[in-house]
Amino acid sequence: MISYEEALKLVDDNVSTLGKTEFRLSEMAGCYLAENVIATMSSPQFDNSAVDGYGIKTDDLKNACEDAPKQLKLITAIAAGSPKELQINTGEAVKIFTGARVPSSCEAVVMREYCREDNGSVLVECSAKAGENIRRAGDEYKKGETVLEAGIKATPPVIALLASLGHVKFPVFKKPRVSLVVTGDELVEPGNPLRDGQIYDSNAYGLTAALNALGIVGCKHYIARDTREETREAFEKALLDSDMVISSGGVSVGDHDYVKETLEALGFRTVFWRIAIKPGKPVYFGVLDTQSGERKYVFGLPGNPVSVLVTFHQIVKPALRKLAGGAFFRTETVRVTSGSALKKRPGRLDFVRGTLKSSDNGKSLAIPTRGQESHMLSGLAKAQVVLHFKAELDRLEAEDPVDVTFINWND
Ligand code: AMP
Ligand code: MG
Repeated sequence: MISYEEALKLVDDNVSTLGKTEFRLSEMAGCYLAENVIATMSSPQFDNSAVDGYGIKTDDLKNACEDAPKQLKLITAIAAGSPKELQINTGEAVKIFTGARVPSSCEAVVMREYCREDNGSVLVECSAKAGENIRRAGDEYKKGETVLEAGIKATPPVIALLASLGHVKFPVFKKPRVSLVVTGDELVEPGNPLRDGQIYDSNAYGLTAALNALGIVGCKHYIARDTREETREAFEKALLDSDMVISSGGVSVGDHDYVKETLEALGFRTVFWRIAIKPGKPVYFGVLDTQSGERKYVFGLPGNPVSVLVTFHQIVKPALRKLAGGAFFRTETVRVTSGSALKKRPGRLDFVRGTLKSSDNGKSLAIPTRGQESHMLSGLAKAQVVLHFKAELDRLEAEDPVDVTFINWND
């Protein structure tokens, strides 16, 4: 069996990013940018006011205070969007609004809260430092600079930034097309009655929701009974217009587990099968290079609902991120403190589902949720983090350091 680290390395080595396309800003949520964002203009483009107030010369306000305000002649007002460039002289002020261009002759803008207008003049109750409340042209970035690098996700601020530079469309990597295969004679679609021994298919719904959360939509799912024929048929259909197929169940060593042999019969090269992790030991990963030059990927996840979502989070998500052009392959772990003593048999990395709590002395404590068996969805549903209880350890004491990954279905 390979380690989790080896499995991630094999995923990284075998997954190649899909091609580029171009999307309108309104369509690109969840995609990764395929080109650097170069500033088409500086930000801000021009000196402008950070507040509603009055543009002044700083010398005019020396020693001004509430009890001894300075009176300045109000010459005009400049609203946001106005192209006005004007000259103010000693003893004068100009009324100015947030975002409006600040004339170069103004040395600072005083907030309206410190000023009173009176019959063509303004009384200012404070002094001002040069540059105060002026957003200088180019102080965020200058025209021609690289503002963001390719591989960043098109999150709301990224999309807003593209719009602020005047883009209507932008090059992004194609989104992966993903289909699902769920295997099992015992499965019944929710909404139908259950006979004795049957269970509802929850994996198709959990995985679909996990893919949707990443912005991958329109995923079809196919159900296969535990026969070679149905398993093969389901994979053939699922593979037709997908870059990746994710399956659940039938990948272990049971008499009715046909996933691995079916994929090998379809020409898939097994990159790995079985990882020293818990839950999720039987995870399969295979690739197929088609005659048309496309690469197809299959992750055969175990059947247990918790194993499915934990291995999706810890293994499939990095693969999807790479396929989709994300600059970061893996989700970094964060070191916190174990809040309880844990025991296990050494040999496998245990992904313990937990919550975080602050201790009295300011530490972040990771505490396992109730329901740690791989069929207990409630324990995962309540968890915020996955603790990495290392393979070689058999004990983790309370107060020991422990690495966690934050459970984040959106990224
Ligand atoms: P398997 O890996 O096929 O042996 O399945 C392991 C366990 O997961 C069994 O208890 C199955 O009943 C359960 N299981 C498999 N597929 C699903 C599914 N789609 N939804 C819920 N439970 C499942
Ligand atoms: Mg099964």
